Amino acid sequence: MHQKRTLAALLTAGALFMTGCGSVTPQNRGSSKDQLRIVCTIFPEYDWTKQILGTHIGEVDLHYVLDSGADLHSFQPTMEDMMMIGDCDLFMYIGGESDEWTADAIAESVNPQMQTVALLDVLGDAAVTEEIREGMQADEEKAGEEGEEEAPEYDEHVWLSVRNAKKLCGVITEKLCRLDSKNAADYRENLAAYTQKLDALDQQFQALADGAQQKTLLFGDRFPFRYFTEDYGLDYYAAFVGCSAETEASFETVVFLANKLDELGLDTVYTIESSDGAIARTIIENTKDKNQQIAVLNSIQSVTAEQVKSGTTYLSLMQQNYDVLKAHLK
Ligand SMILES: [Zn+2]
Repeated sequence: MHQKRTLAALLTAGALFMTGCGSVTPQNRGSSKDQLRIVCTIFPEYDWTKQILGTHIGEVDLHYVLDSGADLHSFQPTMEDMMMIGDCDLFMYIGGESDEWTADAIAESVNPQMQTVALLDVLGDAAVTEEIREGMQADEEKAGEEGEEEAPEYDEHVWLSVRNAKKLCGVITEKLCRLDSKNAADYRENLAAYTQKLDALDQQFQALADGAQQKTLLFGDRFPFRYFTEDYGLDYYAAFVGCSAETEASFETVVFLANKLDELGLDTVYTIESSDGAIARTIIENTKDKNQQIAVLNSIQSVTAEQVKSGTTYLSLMQQNYDVLKAHLK
């Protein structure tokens, strides 16, 4: 009851506040009452939904919450975000540690018919936990009291598996078909066409991994690619577990990774798009030959509205990742 009243107060305040700009006030929403309102927290959900909607994209009200490029692991929604989610027909989120805030948004929803897709729930048993590998920097924030073992956390970067993408797109399509049955045939057709593209990319990655002599990736950075490496039988080392909040690598971690480069004869240190490359460079400076290259893989976790406008898609970023790997995985 208390939560309901809080939201009612929020909605009233919001309605007053937004009358000026007139974009999404409850009043002018009346004219588009039949329009499906869809809210996605992260870019992959948003882009997949776009691909499945196809030519029907203009008929729905589709929002992507994290379009400022904010770090999804520390993102906090605004009141406007919460209201938009609370009033939508279909809400997609990860359902992991980073977006625990979505539970409040769902609990306070004013739409009792709201449908949800939680990516980690869809994967069920196929969801994997973050894995501490030898040489990784200890995560101070996640380390519990002395002697207390912290429960492993689910790796939230499920979209970095093209195979997961296929499964998730299937679930999104079924939700859209149920909410908008008159266009269901189109949505299923779009899914079939998109699945073919995902399959083609999946086969490209598999062939690349199968043909590589050296199947170990070494990240002088955070490591959101566990689902990806698992799919293709690749091994890895990394400075930090998952998207750890740690930013400093200890001397031990740097030396361990530098020695691994020497031992395995690797010529590349990988980073992700948000990195300044400082740790990777330090690792390289500590190897025997000091001549390894740095290559950047995109984790697709901080795509901005501007990138969306200029045509960036999930497939274009994964294709970029393929091109980078193709140039470096020997
Ligand atoms: Zn991450």
